[in-house]
Amino acid sequence: MSTLAEVLERYWGYTTFRPLQEDAMRAILENRDSLVVMPTGAGKSLCFQAPAIVRDGLAVVVSPLISLMKDQVDTLVANGVAAACYHSALQPHVKTEVATGIREGRYSLLYVAPERLVGEGSDGFTNLVGRRPLSFVAVDEAHCISQWGHDFRPEYRQLAELRHRWPDLSFHAYTATATGRVRRDIVEQMGLRDPIELVGSFDRPNLVYRVLPRSTLKKQLQEILARHKGQSGIVYCQSRKEVDALSDWLVEQKIRAVPYHAGLDDDVRHRHQDKFLNEDIDVVVATVAFGMGIDRSDVRFVIHAGAPQSLEHYQQESGRAGRDGLEAECVLIVSGADFLRWKVMLERNGELSDARKTLLRDIERYASSVGCRHKRLVSYFGETWTKDDCGACDYCLGELEEMPDSVTLARKILSCVARVQQRFGILHVVNVLRGAETDSVISRGHSLLSTFGLLKDASIDEVRGYIEQLIAEGFLVQTDGEYPILMMTAEGVALLKDAGAAPGLVLARQRKVEKGKLPKRSKTETESWSGVDKDLFEELRALRLRVARERGVPPYVIFHDTTLRELARLKPADMDAMRHIYGFGEKKVNDLGEAVLEVIKAGS
Ligand code: ADP
Ligand code: ZN
Repeated sequence: MSTLAEVLERYWGYTTFRPLQEDAMRAILENRDSLVVMPTGAGKSLCFQAPAIVRDGLAVVVSPLISLMKDQVDTLVANGVAAACYHSALQPHVKTEVATGIREGRYSLLYVAPERLVGEGSDGFTNLVGRRPLSFVAVDEAHCISQWGHDFRPEYRQLAELRHRWPDLSFHAYTATATGRVRRDIVEQMGLRDPIELVGSFDRPNLVYRVLPRSTLKKQLQEILARHKGQSGIVYCQSRKEVDALSDWLVEQKIRAVPYHAGLDDDVRHRHQDKFLNEDIDVVVATVAFGMGIDRSDVRFVIHAGAPQSLEHYQQESGRAGRDGLEAECVLIVSGADFLRWKVMLERNGELSDARKTLLRDIERYASSVGCRHKRLVSYFGETWTKDDCGACDYCLGELEEMPDSVTLARKILSCVARVQQRFGILHVVNVLRGAETDSVISRGHSLLSTFGLLKDASIDEVRGYIEQLIAEGFLVQTDGEYPILMMTAEGVALLKDAGAAPGLVLARQRKVEKGKLPKRSKTETESWSGVDKDLFEELRALRLRVARERGVPPYVIFHDTTLRELARLKPADMDAMRHIYGFGEKKVNDLGEAVLEVIKAGS
């Protein structure tokens, strides 16, 4: 029997375990039930795939989506692991082939859709595998069993029955959903017995988080996209209409983009998703409908053109970036109006509960907070943060400028809200503070107020930004309804009366950057590109695409960018040197080593 480390090296070309992976794998080798919670991209799949190879017998993997299953099986097969999937969409001849394979004990892993689990009859699943020695059962995306999760699937409830049927097998659950309620529910619904619970860190150090107050959206998008030429990314919008409009506009800008939302026909959606996975296009503009099953590992940016409805959503959606561990950028472009819009939408559907309001408020606070974004996010998910400087967010990279006398600034704004009798919206207050002589300001005599022109040197976006920060910090509120009015809270009134009432308050603005100047790079970005021959990297990417096309699989199944960058850095000169490259397992070297060598030789 080979050891876990040998298997990792031989089939994946990896030489170290990621945090918790080894513990998670040991649980399987020891037949101990387990619940493994790790964020997307942390490497959950390996936790059950490697032990499935080490152990004798067939491991059963339950997975909710055919596309997810297919991806994982394709990747495994490309690495030389005997794996197959069994689901309702299989062609009859493939089904027969898989059934034969199972009977002959050919596979280490079998992926099954939950609705296939308990079916009876001659091609029933338990019947099919029942006579083979099984090793264990792994349940991917296990939160689907819980009504508290965001993807409840009733079919998952059949797992409890499976447990009764196979009392001697250990069961292992994997999820990226961190809340305690879902975790407890999984243990109960699956009937896990004294499971070992392994909960990983939810920080994603390779992601650079930025928040931009929305000004001219298209200009903001252009700036971000200019840093990601030819790279893949997702742009999330709040509504279908915006998705269609933005994706049309991107195509006009010569960017290979497609729309994706629930209003499109199923086959159009599938086609667009496949184009993205197969690198036929670079950018998907989408509503939240686009997500689960997106295994493409080289997503280099996720932009939110409008706030999502909770930090949970934000974590999920932005988490699709940089699954390969390389640098990626997540930008939240946000305005206070986004939150009002969610409220109106939720209200219309009768879903505006107190809980939903709290969730909205939490993300609003995140968006206008002045401090490390990584810290904010992980603290929100209940983790303690110990680093001083993440080196990967707008705050830590020095893109925000804290205002020296924030309390005075805040009081100027509060005072203006008071002077206009708390009867006007944000725009009007901004105009008065900036000393703009608009018709509305003049006709109401607001140009005569002592607060008129108090912030005349600041831009509209800047003043609006401060107001939104004061809303998020609870000093101001906006009324609901079509024409929201800006009013003071009790805290706001207190601060207006007494400058000592908010000692820790810090307001900030975007630091001005010279035109065309790129933001500072994160540590991950600097390190992962260091010494890499970029032209060679692109040539290797092209090779990957050719091989993928020939074999009818998505490119990321062939190689990850991590491997390509290392090849373009170290330029191995023979097959032996190739074996030491990260992500180059034995099968891959035999299979593709020559082709890679040729590209490297031609390039140097
Ligand atoms: P998850 O299922 O948690 O979202 P995956 O299992 O898809 O994550 O893993 C994300 C990426 O990390 C994959 O490309 C995988 O090959 C890679 N990976 C996993 N474990 C390791 C490891 N020990 N060393 C290097 N890369 C790893
Ligand atoms: Zn930071």
